[in-house]
Amino acid sequence: MLIDLRELLSGSSQDLTKNVSLEADTFNNGLFDYPIVKKAPFDVTINKIGTNKISIKAVTDVTLSIPCDRCLTAVDTKVDLVIDEIVDFADDASEEETQIEKDYIDGYNLDADKLLFSELLVSMPGKTLCKEDCKGLCLKCGTNLNIKECGCDREVLDPRMSVFKDILNEFKEV
Ligand SMILES: [Zn+2]
Ligand SMILES: [Zn+2]
Repeated sequence: MLIDLRELLSGSSQDLTKNVSLEADTFNNGLFDYPIVKKAPFDVTINKIGTNKISIKAVTDVTLSIPCDRCLTAVDTKVDLVIDEIVDFADDASEEETQIEKDYIDGYNLDADKLLFSELLVSMPGKTLCKEDCKGLCLKCGTNLNIKECGCDREVLDPRMSVFKDILNEFKEV
């Protein structure tokens, strides 16, 4: 959903509150698509704080379906989002770099989905477990060890595979 910022930037109004809804049903963090299982409309408050400067504020939460780090079972994970951003539209070359990061600004529009996603990227939990003592998957046969014990001899594989698992986890946390 796009919010038109022209009235604010032209000076005909100083603040703007819009109730927006997230349009997307999945969130992609650059590696995976996470289904969004719960979302609610929320207010975005935009204030003009300088000639070409605005502040953007919103508080909401979304629930993502994130696979457990150990057994891959989908876990509904609520992520609280507090958005507090400042955007400077000043036409200054030195500002270019910061503007590029703010991909939720599209011309004179604010893209509410992208705004929320940029916050989700930094607010997502680094670790997701279906339960604290999740036993994970058997590294030999893939059985979910929370459900049943497969009887494989895993001792031999563990040292090597744990290194492999660390690499995977590191990759996921980037
Ligand atoms: Zn698990
Ligand atoms: Zn097994």
